[in-house]
Amino acid sequence: MEPIEEKTISCPYCGEIISIEVDSTGGMNQDFFEECPVCCRPIEIVARRDYEGNLSLIIKSEDDV
Ligand SMILES: [Zn+2]
Repeated sequence: MEPIEEKTISCPYCGEIISIEVDSTGGMNQDFFEECPVCCRPIEIVARRDYEGNLSLIIKSEDDV
């Protein structure tokens, strides 16, 4: 398993497709922010890895509370 996994997400604000890197050495569950290169707004990303090693991402915007 590669320690860094590249994933593609779409910005919840402007819809731009951006690629992000998830560092799996950070643990099974991670929560981090990535700034959109187009609209410069912070995108909250929750990364979860299940026991089979599949990475799933949950994208949240600042507007979601
Ligand atoms: Zn954006």
